[in-house]
Amino acid sequence: MRGKSGVKRSKGPGGMGDTGSGMYRKNQEIELEITDLGTEGEGIGRTDAFLWFIRNTVPGDRVRATVMKVKKNYGYARLQKVLRPSENRISPPCPVALTCGGCTLQMMNYEAQLRIKEQTLRNNLLRIGGLDLTHVSVHPIIGMEFPFRYRNKAQLPVGSDGDGLPVAGFYAGGSHRIIPCADCLIGVKENGPLRDAVLSWMKRNQILPYQETTGEGFVRHILIRKGFCSGEMMVCLVTNVEEARHGALQELAEALMQFPAVTTVVQNINTERSNVILGKRTKILAGSGVIHDRIGEVEFALSAQSFYQVNPIQTRKLYETALHYANLSGTELVWDLYCGIGTISLFLAKKAKAVRGVEIVPQAIADAKRNAARNGIDNAVFFVGKAEEILPREYGRTGERADVIVVDPPRKGCDERCLRTMREMEPKRIVYVSCDSATLARDLKYLLADGGYVLTDVQPVDMFPQTGHVESVVLMSRA
Ligand code: SAH
Repeated sequence: MRGKSGVKRSKGPGGMGDTGSGMYRKNQEIELEITDLGTEGEGIGRTDAFLWFIRNTVPGDRVRATVMKVKKNYGYARLQKVLRPSENRISPPCPVALTCGGCTLQMMNYEAQLRIKEQTLRNNLLRIGGLDLTHVSVHPIIGMEFPFRYRNKAQLPVGSDGDGLPVAGFYAGGSHRIIPCADCLIGVKENGPLRDAVLSWMKRNQILPYQETTGEGFVRHILIRKGFCSGEMMVCLVTNVEEARHGALQELAEALMQFPAVTTVVQNINTERSNVILGKRTKILAGSGVIHDRIGEVEFALSAQSFYQVNPIQTRKLYETALHYANLSGTELVWDLYCGIGTISLFLAKKAKAVRGVEIVPQAIADAKRNAARNGIDNAVFFVGKAEEILPREYGRTGERADVIVVDPPRKGCDERCLRTMREMEPKRIVYVSCDSATLARDLKYLLADGGYVLTDVQPVDMFPQTGHVESVVLMSRA
């Protein structure tokens, strides 16, 4: 199966001998050993050459499962019984771990989670990147001391229960069915009471949840953000229409501002019939519309729409690694591509001669400029646009080479035009921050292909404990 990134994922293995789907049918029972983990954190096992994807299983488990779907040489099955548990299997601390689609690794002890992420990264670099890691320092993953309560953001979809009453929680794995969850263990404790305050306000005022199927109703999501350093919290109510229920919205804002941590309440309007959570417009209902946080010595103001790393404790370690790899002495021109609200740019600016950030979301660049001014940083310039368009344009216009290029793209990785220009600019070092090791491997293959660069260091950082996501920073230097 190829994702949008064009990278072959471990799902749907091609090229295996056709064992014939006729061998298996729906509802049949199978028994097998789980040997691997898929990209979504699901266990993978085999019966002969047939590959099975089974949620809530752990490598090392022997399980009985019920066949749900059969493809040519792979299929999906539902766990029925763990016949012999893996030595890494634990009883998940969250009561909805098995139904909620969020923490796919919660039934695995944390040490095993870390090992599996290291393995995934290594496998992708070898298989997708075709890299020789003999002379590369692949460092052990930086894990968390306490791998819960780390998320500074919760996005709770709102819907109705069987009695038509509003509920908010998390989507069940692979679906849009809402699992009510009073206290998500990777989120902060305050989320539960704030969610309850919104739900009781909805009941009191007979405000309807949004229905995905009809496009009707008012409240789509509750988004809650916390600045871990400042303690400030924002609640953002995402609504389907603007609607003139000012009285009711004002009542909600006042109720939420009673919580000591809440410093601002905003309304975001999303009229689109899509899965994207936030719409383009945000209205302030109470407070300033932003909360503050600090990473190292840099302070940031965050609005509802700004991208901001969700695990602030690990973000600091991630950025420190990037800074270390950039190895700045104060004379360098640095490009920070996919810069968001300029977090990495500003983190590096104090140690560089000049930083140029590029980001596609205009609102994020407005935040980046404000954050630069707020921190008295005057050697950072920001561009709105696609990295693959801005970088070639600016390089073509000025002919100026970069000393260091940092990239931190979304999961789909970098566009080839961006990678090509990076190579042409011949920076001394390229630091690649990645949240998807498959696209990282693909992009490294391209960047290293002509021998101009060598890969020296790979540092995974566990930004998302209990989930299958693997974050890493790598350093390439001019050969
Ligand atoms: N470096 C930032 C943000 C990383 S997330 C941080 O650490 O906080 C990736 C960012 O890339 C997002 O802000 C997203 O809006 C932006 N983005 C996505 N596609 C892009 C493109 N083609 N060009 C530039 N930025 C892009």
